[in-house]
Amino acid sequence: MAKSLEDIKEELEGCKRCALCETRTNLVFGVGNPNAEVVFIGEAPGKQEDLGAEPFIGAAGQYLNSLLALAGLKREDIYIANVLKCRPPENRDPRPEEIEVCTPFLREQIKAINPEILVTLGNFATRFILKTDQGISGLRGQIHITGRFSVLPIFHPAAAIYDRSKEAIMEDDFRLLGRLIARRREERGMRSPA
Ligand code: URA
Repeated sequence: MAKSLEDIKEELEGCKRCALCETRTNLVFGVGNPNAEVVFIGEAPGKQEDLGAEPFIGAAGQYLNSLLALAGLKREDIYIANVLKCRPPENRDPRPEEIEVCTPFLREQIKAINPEILVTLGNFATRFILKTDQGISGLRGQIHITGRFSVLPIFHPAAAIYDRSKEAIMEDDFRLLGRLIARRREERGMRSPA
């Protein structure tokens, strides 16, 4: 049986499983619709998220919110979490030992929500979910299947803020997400009894 999101959150209270507990302000658990069809997975909290205890509330989050409409989504439709729940100092890359101790909780969150679609934002989330060493540039724009999930890797929004030439690609990928959601809904409708 899957644990509830509340139980998982409780288990993480005061977490000291890695050294990031020494520098974080808040643990950033995840937020959104507990029955979401789509779960977005980012890398790790940044400064705003560390202060506000919520994923994607800084500049990357504002940009992400603006793209959701292209997929026919609103922020309250989705669930958002990160590979790491605590901010790495100076926003450095997550370390393997941090990923190892933190991701079992992300896995439990995904189990609790049981979505149809995982959107992985950037390299760290994509590598974790698809168990690959391949970079995001070669994986985005295609739907991957892992277990029961359709996985759509997308550039991290912060990468597109930094490199504006990625904006059109981001928009294409969110439109593709909209088509994937429609297809999964259609398949679900076909499977349900008349
Ligand atoms: N970048 C991420 O990967 N996650 C956040 O929550 C914020 C910025």
